Amino acid sequence: MHDARDLVLARLPSGVPVRTTVHVYGEGRLVDGPDGPELDAPADGGPVVYAQAAQHGREVNGTAVLRRLHERLTGSGGDATDVGPEGDLGDGGLAGTLVTVPVADPLTFDRVSYTTPESLDAIHSNMNRCWPGDADGTLHERMAARLWRFAGAADAVVDLHTGSPAMLTHTVYMRDDAACRGLAEAFGTDLLLAEAAGEEADAEWAERGFAGKLRVAATREGIPTVTPELAHSREVVPEAVDAGVDGMVGVLRHEGLLPGEPAPWSGTVARNHLGRVEAADSGLFTPERGLSVGDEVAAGDRLGVVHDPTTFEPLQTAAADRDGIVYSIAREATVTAGATLVGVAERLEE
Ligand SMILES: [Zn+2]
Repeated sequence: MHDARDLVLARLPSGVPVRTTVHVYGEGRLVDGPDGPELDAPADGGPVVYAQAAQHGREVNGTAVLRRLHERLTGSGGDATDVGPEGDLGDGGLAGTLVTVPVADPLTFDRVSYTTPESLDAIHSNMNRCWPGDADGTLHERMAARLWRFAGAADAVVDLHTGSPAMLTHTVYMRDDAACRGLAEAFGTDLLLAEAAGEEADAEWAERGFAGKLRVAATREGIPTVTPELAHSREVVPEAVDAGVDGMVGVLRHEGLLPGEPAPWSGTVARNHLGRVEAADSGLFTPERGLSVGDEVAAGDRLGVVHDPTTFEPLQTAAADRDGIVYSIAREATVTAGATLVGVAERLEE
């Protein structure tokens, strides 16, 4: 039912291996291959779901989600204080295979960071810009390529991320892709963000290398994929973990690994990557008093002020450039020109 193996993702300059652990549940098995464990999923053994967390190592709630899911699937959480009220899921086994990697990027996990320093990967400091990876490429490309051997063999992929405390929990999927949309609804966060890709996206999408996200690379291979952004980095927050476990259970039901249907979804769909209100100049940002994520705003509404910290001169009164729902607010007050102050997601559907 459950197996776990050590997985070497790459080798550091000193020769120290970058290791993580891969878990398999259900019908599939891990078998020894020439480069370490490989998935052996029987052809008649039902669908394969791949889930990973902590590509961005400070985004620890996804890792906590996969531990809690493990406890519920294996009935091993008896002593844990944070097991949710719904109890074990493992009684009937899985009608398929679940593969999980709780720490996809140990390098950023150890640094509690988002990216790695130049000394480790001068080209792809962000692991989530180089999928599906390259076995002969940079350190992050090699790590991604090793994980892609699991992700690329799946029928559905969940790449767990988290945002800052001042970001509304949401799930990102490729706009106009019905299978990804179905997976996002199954995960079940109230807010879904539809991201355009390729020629339909804005210039920033390509400039920032978003084609190299795991979600985009897998979706383009025909594997429905979602990126949940749970609340809070750096801190394990029970509500964020609950949302993630519920989401994973919904995905396992949607894919037929667990019996039953995911809870019916009724939330908001909005557009990703548009409606960022940016700092017109560098300074200290004070959000409008009372402004919270989830607030509805109208074009022209005041969102905050950027001041020169030395002269107290107001440099910018930030205002919403469209009607929408506030999904992120910069709470780290020192901002540089061009930084996002407030994210306003434009509704696509109610
Ligand atoms: Zn992330």
